[in-house]
Amino acid sequence: MSAAPRVLLIEDEAGLRLTLTDRLGSEGYSVETASDGEAGLARAESGGYDLIVLDVMLPRMNGLDVCRAVRQRGITTPILMLTARGQVVDKVVGLKLGADDYLTKPFETIELMARLEALLRRRRSSPQPGGDVYRFGEIVVDVRRAEVTRAGEPADLSAREFKLLRYFIEHRGATLSRDALLSHVWGYDDMPLTRTVDVHVAGLRQKLESNPKAPEYIVTVHGLGYKFIG
Ligand code: CA
Repeated sequence: MSAAPRVLLIEDEAGLRLTLTDRLGSEGYSVETASDGEAGLARAESGGYDLIVLDVMLPRMNGLDVCRAVRQRGITTPILMLTARGQVVDKVVGLKLGADDYLTKPFETIELMARLEALLRRRRSSPQPGGDVYRFGEIVVDVRRAEVTRAGEPADLSAREFKLLRYFIEHRGATLSRDALLSHVWGYDDMPLTRTVDVHVAGLRQKLESNPKAPEYIVTVHGLGYKFIG
């Protein structure tokens, strides 16, 4: 029904990258990779990932700096850090910088799978960020009850608009392409047109923005897609 969970794997060791890509793929994940910190951060910023697996020792930008930068951009995607044996400091610093879990190399892939599944479950059972109620401007979103109010009045979102808004909130600050939105909010089965995204974004703006023609919350990133900055 829903699309395969998307994993971004940021790892410079080609062998490990290949092994993990194969294994994750066979477990039903959709994997994209980056082999240095800067490329990894750029991919993370493009958004739409369900999980990020991030090595600490990376060329160009180390994993700790990548983790900090990802969180500073408001991206809440769970991060699993890979640390070398004995790098206790990295574990502590990594968790402080916003990583959700860590695994010490070398590890068994079955252990990695278990950690990733746990992170996915946690994310699904508690929508990010801020638990069940999310606020921006005059808007209050009750995620569990699927209710949205604006200045205390019901905003009357359709089910699809709500799903789209929820996805925006979960990826606050990330630039989301129309294709990414289609695959995550609509699913591949429905085969919608990319224009469908624009129509629903316009609907959300009409209901949530004080000036839908000059949106403050759901902004257009020209040539790329949309970004939620509420
Ligand atoms: Ca490394």
